[in-house]
Amino acid sequence: MTQPALSLDQVYKTATQWRDNATANVNPRRNPYPADLYKTNAPPVVVVQSPTNIVVYAHLDISGTGATTANRQAVVDGIRDRWAGTYDNKTVSVRTIDVSTNKSIVPSNQPSIGVNIIDGYGTSTGWAGGPMTLYTGWTDKAGVNHSYTSRQFQQMAAHEFGHSGFNLKDTYTDGHPNPDTGLATTNSQIVSIMRDPFTTRAQQVDYDMIFQNRSWESSSYIHYSSRPDIMDAHFGAGNW
Ligand SMILES: [Zn+2]
Repeated sequence: MTQPALSLDQVYKTATQWRDNATANVNPRRNPYPADLYKTNAPPVVVVQSPTNIVVYAHLDISGTGATTANRQAVVDGIRDRWAGTYDNKTVSVRTIDVSTNKSIVPSNQPSIGVNIIDGYGTSTGWAGGPMTLYTGWTDKAGVNHSYTSRQFQQMAAHEFGHSGFNLKDTYTDGHPNPDTGLATTNSQIVSIMRDPFTTRAQQVDYDMIFQNRSWESSSYIHYSSRPDIMDAHFGAGNW
């Protein structure tokens, strides 16, 4: 992801600098906006840190043949819910902003991550910096088509956002050899939202990869194996 060299998390230091936008087409309690976020050329993903909170603002531009109201909401909800948690004694939350439905508050030139929802069956993807392509179903090895449940679709959107918004590489095709085992893939027992697209929410190892690397500012994928210190801390040397 190519982004301007901004450090907005230093600019917006406290939660008191945020405002609720009661006129916007968003839930103001869920989506308070930093007062000055849109006075700058903010990148698609902005991380605002205070002593007690880490808030990720994720700008998405959702479209496509499968972009029904329900599926749009599933993307927004899935990313927000599966990446929420606690890290370093701070509350982590994600404000997912669909720029295509919040035009009254988001500038027309606001950079965003394209999300193409396809009403069909295929393999969903997310590339570093975007876009995301989300299919509403998949075809199994026997050639039978299946539609994702709402929960599965939410979960998949959250996983793909890990690629597009946080520039994280899948752990199951990490590609870099583990220096301890020489294996190019990580141990299948490792729990990470970037291993399992369908059941696992963000884990502490995922937060470490994001916040220790400031991965949202990266111009390329962050491979989990590129941080053996983090992996060893969570799983033990030789166990991943
Ligand atoms: Zn993936």
